[in-house]
Amino acid sequence: MLILMDLKTPKKQVEKIKEKITGKKCTPHEIPGASKLAIGITGPTETLNEEEFLLMDYVEEVLRVTKQYKLVSREMKPDNTVITIGNEKIGPEQLTIIAGPCSLESRDQIFDIAGELKEMGIRFLRAGAYKPRTSPYSFQGLKEKGLEYLSEVKKELGMLIVTEAKDTQTLPLISEVADIIQIGARNMQNFSLLEQVGNLPNAVLLKRGLAATVEDLLMSAEYILSQGNYNVILCERGIRTFETSTRNTLDLNAVPVIKKNSHLPVFVDPSHGIGMWDKVPPMALAAVACGADGLIIEVHYHPEQALSDGFQSLTPSNFKKLLSKLEQLAPIVNKEMNLNEHANQI
Ligand code: PEP
Ligand code: MN
Repeated sequence: MLILMDLKTPKKQVEKIKEKITGKKCTPHEIPGASKLAIGITGPTETLNEEEFLLMDYVEEVLRVTKQYKLVSREMKPDNTVITIGNEKIGPEQLTIIAGPCSLESRDQIFDIAGELKEMGIRFLRAGAYKPRTSPYSFQGLKEKGLEYLSEVKKELGMLIVTEAKDTQTLPLISEVADIIQIGARNMQNFSLLEQVGNLPNAVLLKRGLAATVEDLLMSAEYILSQGNYNVILCERGIRTFETSTRNTLDLNAVPVIKKNSHLPVFVDPSHGIGMWDKVPPMALAAVACGADGLIIEVHYHPEQALSDGFQSLTPSNFKKLLSKLEQLAPIVNKEMNLNEHANQI
């Protein structure tokens, strides 16, 4: 249920309404909006009666949210969410680029690539310290050592860090370093992990599961928002289909579908989506053309030596070429690339 009120509603009255909601064993969520003050209600809302709220001062409308997911839905919050991280904004007016290697492999590797990406203007660095791999014999990441290197990079180069949380045990460590905590495809329905990130202040990049529908993804995001963390980015990264000529099938249909149904920013990961480095650039451009608010792209100095996902990783020089195409495309879709101004000209 959603209560819409006059923007000028006094704080006291807002509190009164919230108390009424908690008194009915439901949870109120204050939702910021440009034209109305809104309180979303989750919990056993079938026990609530619209009339009793409509009779309260400053309440203008009471609506039932028909979607299964509530806080994530555009019904609950018509305005697009803008996530602020440091000086960065992630939202409908920006095209945010996250780049870096799949796995953090060594201190030198991460400093070299981060330095190069920073020169290109990249502000968000990705690198996995904990890697959930299909095979238990594959490289599992440098784990705590990797997090140490990431926090050094963050301090020395001032880059914002995107790294994956694989389980609830290591989540507290990751939350100390990560500006954006990535929840990977394999964990999209790890509900304990979702609830725990929901209680953290960090932004979250929630990737779509290998065989998850758009609705499944939105329901998973609801777990995070329902705990109070509204800084969630949804990420399309390809799904399993009968097609075998590519690693996954990048479902770009999901982008406009999600944007219609949810106010959250939507990113695309073309690297995992197609799984072949030479086809990453066209899919990255296609993702922006269909409305993505950001991209997460794997970049490695020596893809042939990478300990994970080398085949889909761009070299820095190929990534640079893609960046210049993205710079041309961004204004056409009314977006600004949030690259560092002091970067070397592309
Ligand atoms: C990754 O980003 O390296 C990764 C493992 O992604 P996904 O969870 O989408 O497979
Ligand atoms: Mn990867």
